Amino acid sequence: TTFDTLGLAEPILKAIKPQGYSTPTPIQAKVIPLLQSKRDVIGIAQTGTGKTASFVLPLLHRIECEISKPAPKHCNALILTPTRKLAAQIVDNIRAYSQFSRISTTLVVGGVRPGGQIKALSAGIDIVVATPGRLLDHLDTGVIDLSATKAIVVDEADQMLDLGFLPSIRKIMAKLPEARLTALLSATMPGQIRKLADDFLNDPAEVQV
Ligand code: AMP
Repeated sequence: TTFDTLGLAEPILKAIKPQGYSTPTPIQAKVIPLLQSKRDVIGIAQTGTGKTASFVLPLLHRIECEISKPAPKHCNALILTPTRKLAAQIVDNIRAYSQFSRISTTLVVGGVRPGGQIKALSAGIDIVVATPGRLLDHLDTGVIDLSATKAIVVDEADQMLDLGFLPSIRKIMAKLPEARLTALLSATMPGQIRKLADDFLNDPAEVQV
């Protein structure tokens, strides 16, 4: 597989070029086509496998090609991560891969004043990358509305579980529309994650690398 055969939009391919990636990694070769065909995905993969691009690139493609600008308070896609550091890394990746696209992204994490996040969310944003606690704060105050969100990614789900975020993930999932794309990434698949996938994914394809 090459990146050119994955059906990704031209501005995204152009942004991948300077990254110096020669071919998609195994997880990318499997997950990108599934998400491109709008199939829910469970990806069992460790960090360092290129898992971030495996979900970010198809999200960017879909936003670039199919989805209009979000209404105030709405977001097109949500990425949930266990830590602020991981969230920041994902935002950096999104900014690099969307440098030739008109796609907005923002970081929603704790430990910083909420003002900047409130401003960005109020305007409407394509992709929100969030840790669960701060996102729930913004849901409670009505700053963000997930009722029109088209896709959700739960990254490092097993880490989320270890940090006690399972109830938060369930609360957030309940705010999303039924008709949406869902991807769940985890290094391991303990029973609780399997249950989460059963409850919130629709006929998912399972990919292991
Ligand atoms: P991740 O597993 O998403 O944390 O990615 C690990 C590292 O692999 C990051 O530094 C990426 O920039 C890099 N990477 C992602 N995709 C590729 C690829 N297709 N070829 C080479 N490196 C990649």
